[in-house]
Amino acid sequence: MKDTIREMFPILREKINNHPLIYMDNAATTQKPQQVIESISSFYKHQNANVHRGVHVLSQRATDLFEKAREEIRVFLNAASSEEILFVRGATEGINLVAASFGRSQLKPGDEIILSEMEHHANVVPWQMLARELNFSIKVIPFHDRGELDLEAYKKLFTSRTRLVGVVHVSNVLGTVNPIKEISAIAHDHGVPILVDGAQALAHEKIDVQAVDCDMYTISAHKAYGPTGIGALYVKENLLETWPPYQGGGEMIEQVEFGKYPLFSGLPYRFEAGTPNVAGAVGFAEALRFIREIGYKSIQNHEKELLAYGRERLLSIPKLTLYGDAKEKTAIFSFLIDGIHPLDIGSFLDARGIAVRTGHHCAQPLMTHYGISGTARASLALYNTKDEIDYFVECLKEMVKLFI
Ligand code: PMP
Repeated sequence: MKDTIREMFPILREKINNHPLIYMDNAATTQKPQQVIESISSFYKHQNANVHRGVHVLSQRATDLFEKAREEIRVFLNAASSEEILFVRGATEGINLVAASFGRSQLKPGDEIILSEMEHHANVVPWQMLARELNFSIKVIPFHDRGELDLEAYKKLFTSRTRLVGVVHVSNVLGTVNPIKEISAIAHDHGVPILVDGAQALAHEKIDVQAVDCDMYTISAHKAYGPTGIGALYVKENLLETWPPYQGGGEMIEQVEFGKYPLFSGLPYRFEAGTPNVAGAVGFAEALRFIREIGYKSIQNHEKELLAYGRERLLSIPKLTLYGDAKEKTAIFSFLIDGIHPLDIGSFLDARGIAVRTGHHCAQPLMTHYGISGTARASLALYNTKDEIDYFVECLKEMVKLFI
């Protein structure tokens, strides 16, 4: 990727512990290009007001920007209608909305849902909490050691009581890109809707909810060069129409009277109680424009090169084990070095300006699969370079020499 792209990200000029920053924690959150930072700043300087209620000019400007952002997301995901796009805080809230609204109103004791063994806790814990309350059970799609879901085992999990499939598009630990079109088709063969956690996909994979034919798809802006605290949930309109509201409050009602049940707004407002994160939506839309301008093709070409290069370089380190070697994967390296605690790897690299994450990465069932408690994880994005990988590998080799 050209230097001009790195120059778009002001934070990449930071020094960390007297070293140039090498940011390899993109699965946790990505850095933000100048145009996203400026769009948020400009919103607060020139357009800030609350949306939907005002007749004054600023409120109309803010409302226009907010609804334009929704339309930008619709186009980006190729949803059929902007009424299918709900603003949420992020993927976590998107899944909690599905659990609270669809789950609480439609799941019954004895029902079953299917999740995968490689889910992030965001797509496990809301269901476990609800399962205890409603008495349904959770079945789990296992994965093979190299990090690919066992689709034969998946097909066998369906029964007449299966009500939902929930699957991560891209694993935040293994980088596996799951075949969600195929997984959706299998769910639909059984008449079961599917929820896809796309938190890790948006920055790396073209998403087309109609081509994949999933029923629900959730994303977080901050994982794809946008701001924190904003994301979106796509839900097919025919499903969304049958769901009760998620939260109550302003913006989501037509009429409220004591002694009567409130009359709710139409879609999508019924699901957006309270003042939304308008500046976040503006920044989110700008991040999508940024991705579109660069194009997934260039992003993927670059990241695939980094993946192949990094994989080969890392495997040259003695006693290093890489977790996740799926045929389709993003540039994520989860690894352990025999005899060195992952926390020590993280601290050693941090002292040299390299940001990686260590721990279970909110995917403890996945860790249990491998019989480990955590890994060190370097997750790359479009601004990472081969030079950075070289330095990262050099540091790890130095560490092996010192520690083992
Ligand atoms: N799912 C996956 C696969 C993730 O990686 C994350 C973030 N680590 C989430 C869900 C939750 O996203 P957020 O924290 O933005 O709500």
